Amino acid sequence: MGRRTFKLLLTALLAAACAVACGGEQPQSPLRRAAERVFVIGFDGMDPTLARRWMDEGKLPNLKALADEGTFSTLESTQPSESPTAWSSFATGVNPGQHNIYDFLVRDTQTYLPEFNMVRQEPPTFLWGMIPTRGPKIESTRGGTSFWVTAGQSGIKTTVMTVPVTFPAESIDHGQILAGLPTPDLRGTLGTYYYFATDVSRFEEGDTEFLGVVKRLVFDGDRATAMLLGPPNPIVRQELRELNGTALTDASRTKRAELETRESVQIPVSVQWRRGERGATVELGGNTFTLAEGEWSDWVPLTFKINFLVSVKGMMQFYLARADSELQLYGSPININPEDPVFPISSPTGFAPALVEQIGTYRTLGWAESADKPLNEGRLDEKAFLFDANRAMDDRERLIFEALKNDDWDLFVSAIETTDRVSHMMWRLIDPAHPMYDAALAAEYGDAIEKIYIRADDLVGRLRAAVPPDATFIVMSDHGFHSFRRGVNLNTWLVQNGYMAFEGQEGATKTLGDLFGHGQFFEGVDWSRTKAYAVGLGQIYFNLRGREAQGIVSPGAEYLALQEEIRSKLITLRDPEDDALVFGDIYRRDDIYHGEFLGNAPDLEVGFNDGYRVGWQDTLGGISSAVVEDNDRKWSGDHCATATEISGGVLFINRKLTSEKPSIMDLAPTILDRLGVAVPAGLDGKILR
Ligand SMILES: [Zn+2]
Repeated sequence: MGRRTFKLLLTALLAAACAVACGGEQPQSPLRRAAERVFVIGFDGMDPTLARRWMDEGKLPNLKALADEGTFSTLESTQPSESPTAWSSFATGVNPGQHNIYDFLVRDTQTYLPEFNMVRQEPPTFLWGMIPTRGPKIESTRGGTSFWVTAGQSGIKTTVMTVPVTFPAESIDHGQILAGLPTPDLRGTLGTYYYFATDVSRFEEGDTEFLGVVKRLVFDGDRATAMLLGPPNPIVRQELRELNGTALTDASRTKRAELETRESVQIPVSVQWRRGERGATVELGGNTFTLAEGEWSDWVPLTFKINFLVSVKGMMQFYLARADSELQLYGSPININPEDPVFPISSPTGFAPALVEQIGTYRTLGWAESADKPLNEGRLDEKAFLFDANRAMDDRERLIFEALKNDDWDLFVSAIETTDRVSHMMWRLIDPAHPMYDAALAAEYGDAIEKIYIRADDLVGRLRAAVPPDATFIVMSDHGFHSFRRGVNLNTWLVQNGYMAFEGQEGATKTLGDLFGHGQFFEGVDWSRTKAYAVGLGQIYFNLRGREAQGIVSPGAEYLALQEEIRSKLITLRDPEDDALVFGDIYRRDDIYHGEFLGNAPDLEVGFNDGYRVGWQDTLGGISSAVVEDNDRKWSGDHCATATEISGGVLFINRKLTSEKPSIMDLAPTILDRLGVAVPAGLDGKILR
């Protein structure tokens, strides 16, 4: 086969993969108009208490006007009250038992190891280590049917922009969608960041706890070079998988070590330090740019060559944090380039590139405010984080307004997550009781959350002006927000109370790398004597016979007794520091979930009181010594697994509603009803009137 034949084969394979995954190229024309047009803007994590306070103080005039004209209410969230779960219930109108998304993580019942939820992936395959024979397969694990798919099936024109849990982009009849969370970066993660600096010790080099890659820069005169870790090389990964099936010999060990050095495609980064000007010139992938201290770069386009047949396109931004006595260069996660996306980030596939033609490039990473992790790990400061978060919101806004220009939609659904990310990171500065409260920082950044609400309010004003006045206009959020002062280590509690058998761990601190299979998770746990274990942000699973590989708890009477025993003990847990009750409630599986995916549900779901969240090491399979401990991170506000009574988000709608206690599950049937589309049977939500 000649090179030309290879290329044709590749094109045909990719086209075939796309035809299956991505639907048609052009959105079809609407078949009919809706009874009433509906516009939705979601602000992730917008909290009803904060919204009410700032409306009362006259700081959110557009939301206030919407509330006065129509309805403002708390919107009950899901259990747990976290984005993947709540946005799935928003889209489908059903409880998690019917849509299968209980958390960011699922656990493998054979190995007990957690895996990332929301998508299932199968790697691409290659013939002779070079010719692609099958593209990567990515599927959503979410069940149920989104209301925009239902609306599309009835002939209504729909646009969906960056709503969480819409990756990979699903095909919508008569509609278009640009995916939001969990659209990955080019490394396949929720956002791996890079930090190249002179003041990094050899011990700090490598992967950080939260998806950072830290490299030490060693200057020879004014130049230093480091390698940028790009996407995993699927050909090398395939060879590694094949090697796993063979006998372990010296030769295979050498081969494995050699392959591991090539597991990621790398690009050299060269840095020229301009000491006199407090700046640096950076060269990588054929791009050269100069930054002054405190300056951000534009998007830098990068092409990563897998081999002579296959390459993938990404883009990233750099920020020169320091260039005085030390040099610190931050690199953002490598975003999928929307001009030529390697994964299905839009449907039709041409929608994402067409937007680039209209407004220029834009960030595609689902977790768009990606400077939160380096702020949490002390690699960026508050100023850089807020600048980047606002840039992310700029991009989301530009996309929404561009998509709104085509006035043929009858259903428009959009979401922005900047409100959530700023609240997570800056809560410590509005809560003087938080262990990470800092009066000097609070004087400078204590209004950061208020400012992002004001920005959201201003956007609502501009959107109302752009949307036809007779349309139903909805502003909503998936959950509210709380202070996260104290971390609660559920696995430590299970060990101390005899439900988990634990013989000790060697390593100290666990990293996200440990979580996703490269290291030791649940190290030292004796499963043959363990009855219950916690995974994720508030889920307790039983080691059930017939379900878990080494299950010891029998279904039926023993299961129910264990559920009641753990629940009744845990609910009385008090914080040793001030004797406060840690939990508002502990929920039994069958009391809160029902449906075809009930078998994947946690056996107990915890509901924290204000101030508490699952501890950091607990989420990573590490077992801390204390059950309740101070949260010493800048990630200081949270909402995951909060008790239902205090976890609700917001609902604003320009209609007077009389229905009481609206739930996030009610929006799908309510919107379909307004559009004049028959509401499918079997939804858990009700039509709000
Ligand atoms: Zn959040």
